[in-house]
Parts: sequence; C-alpha cells; structure tokens
Amino acid sequence: MSAQYLLPCACGQKVRVEPAQAGGQVACACGAKLYVPTLRGLRQLEAAPPDKSVRSAGRQWGPVRGAMFSIGLLVTVISLLVLAYTYLQFAAASDWTQDQTPLIHEAEGQAIEKMGLMESLEAFYILRNEGLGEPVEPFWVTAQKVVAEKRALMIGAGSLALAGAIAAIASLLIRPARA
Ligand SMILES: [Zn+2]
Repeated sequence: MSAQYLLPCACGQKVRVEPAQAGGQVACACGAKLYVPTLRGLRQLEAAPPDKSVRSAGRQWGPVRGAMFSIGLLVTVISLLVLAYTYLQFAAASDWTQDQTPLIHEAEGQAIEKMGLMESLEAFYILRNEGLGEPVEPFWVTAQKVVAEKRALMIGAGSLALAGAIAAIASLLIRPARA
C-alpha cells in the first residue's frame, strides 16, 4: 500500500488521500470538494497513520459470516476427529467379521472325537437338561453389525466434515457487505 496523507478540510476533518489522487479532487465527509495537491504538495501534508479500517475492510466479519466460519470450522474439526476415531473402530471390527462357523464346527468336531464315551454321554445329558441356552450371537455377526454401524457413522461424519468445510470456505468467499 502506498503512503497516504491527510488532507485537511475547512470543516476540520481530514481526508485520506493517496499519491494516485494527486492533482484530482476528493469529497470530504462534510460534502465539500477538496483539491488534492500534486505529489510534491502531498508530501508536505501530514502522513496518514496506517489505515486499519481499510486494511480490515476485506476481513470485516459480519456476525453471520463469523458464525458460519467458526461453526463450519468447528463442525469440520469435530467430524474429522469422529471420522478418524470411528475409522479405528471400523478397522478393528473389520478384522472380526469373517464367518468363523466352519472353524468352530471343525473345532467342535475335533473336541467330540477326542471325548470318550462317558464324556460324550455326559455332554449329551448336559445339553439335553440345560438346553443350548440363550442363542448367542456369533462374534462375527456382532462385528458385522459394528462395521455396518461404523460405516454409516463414517459416512455421516464425512458428510458433516464436508458440509462444515464448505460453510467455512463459503464464509471466506462471501464478499463482506460494505456498510
Ligand atoms: Zn469537510
């Protein structure tokens, strides 16, 4: 940004002018038209302090825009954390989703083969008297459910992260409303 100078007006206010305006006219806030001196004359003027209002104008955050950015960013960060955490659970559960029925049947078969006659009878009576008990969900079925649940959660978290990122980026792209 080039240096700026303060051009005093008869009303007492000072109008900020740039070298590019040298020799031209500017309007004071009071409505008066001021002639801007030439470059040489400009340098005689009081130098303007760094213009915070101009510099910050591009980043002026309306409340909606600011909220959109912070909420968007927050949603993105949280969703990504949830996504990462869910992925770990998903990956862990994925290791257990394979149907182990053949293995278990094989193991049971081997166990039964190794049983003596009395043991087999005993096992048979225990089964007959006590029943098979509550049907227990095989762990791979549980794992499959977990995986499906985590997958849905990951899709949800991913979509939220994307939506949050879009909101945050959009809030940056929106032109600030100049008051
Ligand atoms: Zn004035």
